[in-house]
Amino acid sequence: MRAAIYTGPDQPLQIQQIQLADPAHSEVLVEVHATGLCHTDLHFMQGHLPLLAPAVLGHESAGIVRVVGAGVSYLKPGDHVIGCLSAFCGCCHMCLSGHPSICEDQDAINRDPDQPPRLSLDGQPLTQFMNLSGFADHMLVHEHALAKIDPAMPLDRAALIGCAVTTGVGAVMHTAKVTLGSSVLVFGCGAVGLSAIQGARLAGALDIIAIDINVQRLQMAAAFGATHTINSKSVDASTEVMAITENRGVDYAFEAVGDQQLARQAFMMLRKNGTLVLIGLMREGAEISLPFQQFIAQRKVLGSDMGSNQFRTDMQRLVKFYLDGRLNLDDMLSARIPLPEINQGFEMMKRGEGIRTIVDFSL
Ligand SMILES: [Zn+2]
Ligand SMILES: [Zn+2]
Repeated sequence: MRAAIYTGPDQPLQIQQIQLADPAHSEVLVEVHATGLCHTDLHFMQGHLPLLAPAVLGHESAGIVRVVGAGVSYLKPGDHVIGCLSAFCGCCHMCLSGHPSICEDQDAINRDPDQPPRLSLDGQPLTQFMNLSGFADHMLVHEHALAKIDPAMPLDRAALIGCAVTTGVGAVMHTAKVTLGSSVLVFGCGAVGLSAIQGARLAGALDIIAIDINVQRLQMAAAFGATHTINSKSVDASTEVMAITENRGVDYAFEAVGDQQLARQAFMMLRKNGTLVLIGLMREGAEISLPFQQFIAQRKVLGSDMGSNQFRTDMQRLVKFYLDGRLNLDDMLSARIPLPEINQGFEMMKRGEGIRTIVDFSL
């Protein structure tokens, strides 16, 4: 099995042959067709968040089931699947009360320490990133990390649903529960922000305001459903937002960059009773300072882990929205690269080029 190995912060990923164990009870071997490059991978590669090396990154994958272990009833060989980092135990309080994306016992789906590791490199264990490790031509995962999808769905676009789309649309639908006719602001128009914009359009938001400093992304945001775009490099975003909303502010703001100052700015643009949802991942230890006065008018701040998803049902719906022509994933997929070019793909991300690059394992 071929994989891109993370060896430590600020080191390029290395393409090497790795070994996968045979599927144990509840485990599934998936032939990966595509894996998206996500900012979260880059955060770990740059050492902003800790990760035990060596490891295989990648958490936005789609593929086809090849082998299932004992006890797997949800899937069979040949099924098309999307992986999700929100693997759930299915038994804890959060899982059973309808919040599986914040499962309290994800360890339950990992192998016991006395079992051989799922992934290894020349006899040494490899860290499985977020229960997936999608930068490899095969993944060995627990069945609770997979959603079965309609085989009519193209697997390259299905991969995008694995993280970006589920996160952005989910933040709108599940975390904030945006209502018909409301005003929505999205800070940051990368793949997650554009997904939030599409979610807001699907939810029937009246004003959808996109803010970014990248002209191309703002054009994309308009094509994806933004009714107003603001280039915060050239104008004062707060002034513009207040003008658009007749000085009231927005009902919902989504921070999809992962920046404390932008989060504060977005909060200050909320209408009374408005809600800020923090989607973007920030550095470990990051703190946000907000004036208490604003909370008196019932403004709220919500965290959102992977769009507060229930991914096995969410992903099937998102696939249907795509097949129905109501969710644009074609324009989100901006580049396809073979696995050996993965480092160049991350360089493109650092330069802000394109929206989503995928590793296409058929290349
Ligand atoms: Zn991601
Ligand atoms: Zn659980």
